[in-house]
Amino acid sequence: MTYINPFEVALKQLEIVAKEIDLNEDFHERLKHMERIMIVSIPIRMDTGKLKIFQGYRVQHSTIRGPAKGGIRYDLGVNLDEVKALSMWMTWKTSLLKLPLGGAKGGVQVNPNELSHGELERLSRRYAVEILNIIGPTKDIPAPDMNTDAQTMAWIMDTYSMFKGETTPGVVTGKPVEIGGSLGRTRATGMGLFFIAKSITKKLGLNLSEMKVVVQGFGKVGKVIAEELYNFGCKIICVCDITAGVYSESGLNIHELAEWVSMGNNLKDYEGTTGELIPSIDVLTLDCDILVPAATENQITKKNADKIKTKIVLEGANGPTTPEADEILNSKGIVVVPDILANSGGVLVSYFEYIQDINAYFWDIDRINQELGKVLQRTFEEVYKISQERKISLRTAAYIIAVSGVAKALELRGLYP
Ligand code: NAD
Repeated sequence: MTYINPFEVALKQLEIVAKEIDLNEDFHERLKHMERIMIVSIPIRMDTGKLKIFQGYRVQHSTIRGPAKGGIRYDLGVNLDEVKALSMWMTWKTSLLKLPLGGAKGGVQVNPNELSHGELERLSRRYAVEILNIIGPTKDIPAPDMNTDAQTMAWIMDTYSMFKGETTPGVVTGKPVEIGGSLGRTRATGMGLFFIAKSITKKLGLNLSEMKVVVQGFGKVGKVIAEELYNFGCKIICVCDITAGVYSESGLNIHELAEWVSMGNNLKDYEGTTGELIPSIDVLTLDCDILVPAATENQITKKNADKIKTKIVLEGANGPTTPEADEILNSKGIVVVPDILANSGGVLVSYFEYIQDINAYFWDIDRINQELGKVLQRTFEEVYKISQERKISLRTAAYIIAVSGVAKALELRGLYP
């Protein structure tokens, strides 16, 4: 597969919306650049006794609307341009939701499956120390992303707290509940996707429970949306991870598959009661009603967009569709619900966690779900209205709100000095 640079995709998306809203040239120029880029070496003593150096990044695209916010990814494919793109997308996402936050992202170039638990802990703690001066509850608040989880956040929070000499839960979100995490955070991104799936199918006059669904990526995001849609009555005909897809035209038993992966297994070794194994790459072009890319960037491109056979693309991943593919999908009448709206439940509950930490007062799950629903409903309606009024895609509509919000903050704050 030819490599597509995610940062070029992000710049192109910004250019499209800049034209649409006649964005001030200075603001456009400013938003093309990251506020801060930190590249660090992370030396780790491996279990064998050997020293190994990993490369890590923390990139803050914008703090104009508030402290930067964004996840940390552990993956061999991590590179600076990917982290820059993910960071910029976070700025748009927090602005779209009108949260008092900016955008950031971090990553370490590593295959976490090759590291022992102890090595992973040392890597996470040393990475935390390397970026310590630029993170913090009023500066930049990391969270989990691909291949990181509540345990990773616990290590980062503990390391930060040891250095500061005070327990600082608000330095990260997505922590375990026992040390200041929020109820509902682990499932929040998938729950948000489910909420948006209900909203969009209603607008399109479709019955969600009758939908045939394909989910690419069966991790923290993909697994939860698959489970929620399955429980709702949808037929999930295929799910996949990086190793393989499991496909059944009559529908899979998602609980069985979820249990299989929660035991640390890959789907290529799946030995369940339903489904046959297929290559992961074939998953996206299966005939379905809702396609949920929930793996990584640049999965739907000009190479395969024409072969996509679905009514709705619900973007669980960040940046799964390129601008060229967007055009093709639009021309085929496929509704694409963009990442910054569809998967925004994650950062929203992260924000709830952050304010609970600051107030040292924790909400029950009913309140979390109620507030999640309230913000997502309001945001979805705003995006949908603009897309209808201006006859533009949901992505461009969402970007109009998001980029306008950041531009307004730039205007109000002015240029220092
Ligand atoms: P994860 O590491 O928990 O799961 C990723 C899944 O995708 C795994 O099943 C993995 O095997 C699979 N995968 C990776 N590359 C693949 C490929 N090329 N083809 C098929 N499958 C592949 O990660 P996650 O947290 O679920 O994140 C998935 C996506 O959702 C990422 O784009 C992430 O940025 C985005 N996202 C995550 C959150 C969150 O709260 N975790 C929030 C918003 C957006």
